[in-house]
Amino acid sequence: MNVFGTVKTSINTREAAARYGVEVNRHGKALCPFHNDRNPSLFVDNDHYHCFACGEHGDVIDFTAKLYGLTLYDAAKKLAYDFGITQDKPPDKAMQEKLNRKSEAQRLRENEKLCFSTLMEYMKLLQTWMVVCAPRTPEDDVDSRFTEACHWLSYVEYLVDTLIGGDSYERNEVIEMLMTDGKLQKLQDYLKKHRKERSYEQEER
Ligand SMILES: [Zn+2]
Repeated sequence: MNVFGTVKTSINTREAAARYGVEVNRHGKALCPFHNDRNPSLFVDNDHYHCFACGEHGDVIDFTAKLYGLTLYDAAKKLAYDFGITQDKPPDKAMQEKLNRKSEAQRLRENEKLCFSTLMEYMKLLQTWMVVCAPRTPEDDVDSRFTEACHWLSYVEYLVDTLIGGDSYERNEVIEMLMTDGKLQKLQDYLKKHRKERSYEQEER
């Protein structure tokens, strides 16, 4: 039997998924690593997997190949090695690097978390400014932080709402927008600066 046959008959897709960091629940469902999944849409059975959201489908070798961006042959070799059914040498260095790379969906999920926490912090800051920096009388000079809150708060709230309740397409749009031209990084730097200022203010009190 060649490596494909050996791997397919001796390695369970569910075990391989678990081994490669895809947690399968007792109903055989998992968060799909091939799209930005929020509710488990991936069904993993003993000899195949199928995603009801993005349509990815195949056997244990397809799964591993897709997850790590390998050819089917390399995926079969990796499985054989990882599950101890081959005496062959371990995957070489170039392949090892490939194996360490994160899948597209993992990267997307990390970016989403980062976007969400950053937007939440900015939203809370703006909400505070909206109240604390509001002019008390019509004669007061308008605080620039109040102006900023008036200008941006509802937009930032809309972005947060989208990340909470939007479908994967809408959420991806927000993430992509924030990751373009270093917008997220700029916002993070901006928030960091304000965090420092606020800690000085507290020291002065
Ligand atoms: Zn999927």
